[in-house]
Amino acid sequence: MKFIPITHPARDAARFDALLDRSGGPDACWTWQGKEDGQGYGRFRLWCGVDVQANRFAYALATGSDPGDLFVCHKCDNPPCCNPRHLFLGTQADNVSDMIAKGRARHIGERNGAAKLTTCDLEAIRANICEGRANVDIAREHGVTHHVISRIRRGRSWRNENTSGMRRGNGRERAEL
Ligand SMILES: [Zn+2]
Repeated sequence: MKFIPITHPARDAARFDALLDRSGGPDACWTWQGKEDGQGYGRFRLWCGVDVQANRFAYALATGSDPGDLFVCHKCDNPPCCNPRHLFLGTQADNVSDMIAKGRARHIGERNGAAKLTTCDLEAIRANICEGRANVDIAREHGVTHHVISRIRRGRSWRNENTSGMRRGNGRERAEL
């Protein structure tokens, strides 16, 4: 996975800060007020006209270094949050082994409604979708059914997934995200 590098975050810092709600204080989630990508993650336009994930920008700005090929994940499982204290770097491999350790890996086609995906899983899955990989391959890696990947591909919002979105359809479709 190749992410767009964020090499000069200071150039865009003032514009970025204006789009963050920090009213909860230094330890609260800092909610992105700008454009969203349909799944709750912020989209921020760099000075060069390219959009990047707002939480990736927040990380680059706070640390002074581009996250490179790594995912910028949320400890708080709150996609629009851009508080660097809530962000950490993770690889997709970290994610998958963590998931297996927690017993969340499942075979494709298994009628299992209990698969849970963290924000970081979703970030990794969305990156896989952008790479043009097939739903079944992504599903196998993340231990969920391809129906789940298909829903993520269709861009159902995070909030909908967490509320009524998953209760529709038959048993195969049921999964908590
Ligand atoms: Zn947060």
